[in-house]
Amino acid sequence: MTGALHEDAPAKLNLCLFLGPRRERDGRHELVTVFQPLTLADRVSLEPAPLGARGDDVSCPGVPGPPEENLAARALRMFRDRTNWLGPPVRLHIDKRIPVAAGMAGGSADAGAALRLAARTAGSGDDALLRAIAAELGADVPAQVRPARYLATGAGEELRALDGPRPRYAALVLPVAHALSTADVYRRADDMALARDAADLRERLGAVVAHGADLPDDLVVNDLEPAARALCPAIDEALAAVRAAGADCALVCGSGPTVVGLFRRVDAARAAVVALAGRTPRPILAEPRGPHAAEAAA
Ligand code: ATP
Repeated sequence: MTGALHEDAPAKLNLCLFLGPRRERDGRHELVTVFQPLTLADRVSLEPAPLGARGDDVSCPGVPGPPEENLAARALRMFRDRTNWLGPPVRLHIDKRIPVAAGMAGGSADAGAALRLAARTAGSGDDALLRAIAAELGADVPAQVRPARYLATGAGEELRALDGPRPRYAALVLPVAHALSTADVYRRADDMALARDAADLRERLGAVVAHGADLPDDLVVNDLEPAARALCPAIDEALAAVRAAGADCALVCGSGPTVVGLFRRVDAARAAVVALAGRTPRPILAEPRGPHAAEAAA
C-alpha cells in the first residue's frame, strides 16, 4: 500500500423491526427486520502509519472513549490476529457523520469498513472469514461487511439480501441529543412485554417477504419504539416534529433515539429539512443506497 484507501461506512435504517420471543438457545430475542443502508455514511480511510510507528493507530474524533476501544480498532486487531497478517502498521481515520449511540449502527458500520480496508490491504478476499470476525465483534456487524439491503431473521444474524430497484423515498434523519444503550432498550422492552409470539412474528415475516425492500407504510413499524420512548421522552417531540414537517411515516431508528421521517416525495423531504433547520442537532437528509454501493464507491 502506498497511498490512502477509503471506504464509506453507511448508516443503517431498520425499515421495520418486529420483536419476537426469546429463543431458548441463547436467550436472545428473535427478530424480523430490514436493514436499509443510507447515503448518510462515515468516511473511513486507511494509510501507512508514519515511519517508526510501533503499532496501528486509530482516530475517530467525536466518539468518546480510548481509541483502542473503538469498534473499528477492535476489528483491525481481530483481523490481524485471525489472518496472521503481519503487514506494517497502519493509520485508520474515521470521519464521523453518523450520530453516535443513536440506533444507526455507526460503530458497526465503521468496523465493517475497517475489515474491508484491512482485507484490501492484506490482499485477502475471504468474505466468510470477515463475516466470522464481524459476528464476534457484534450482532450488527456482519451486515456491514458488505453493506446492502438485507432481511435479517434469527436474532438478526441470518441475512438474506433483498434485491430489486432502489426504494423511492427520502429519509429525514433527526438526531436526538441523548444516547441510548441497545441493551437498556431491550431490557425495557421486556419489562413492557413488547415481544410478539412466534405465530405473530411468522405472520409479519410473511408480509415483509411478500413486499421485499419497499415496504408499505403499515409495515414500517419498530416494535422497540415504545421502550425507547419510555427511556427517552425527547423522542416524542422529535417524532411529532417530523410528522408536522410532512413525513409520510415516522419511526424510531433501531434502538433509538434517532428519529427518521420517510417521504415519498424528495422535494417534500427537502422542504422539511429547511423547516427543521433551526434545530440542534440539525436534521440530515439521506436516501436509501443500493446494494454494494460501498464497493462501487471504493
Ligand atoms: P449499539 O447497537 O451498539 O448501541 P448504536 O447503533 O446505537 O449501537 P453506535 O454509534 O454504534 O450506536 O455506538 C454505540 C457505542 O459504541 C457508543 O457508546 C460508542 O462510544 C461506542 N463506539 C465504539 N466505536 C465506535 C465507532 N466507531 N462509532 C461510534 N460509536 C462507537
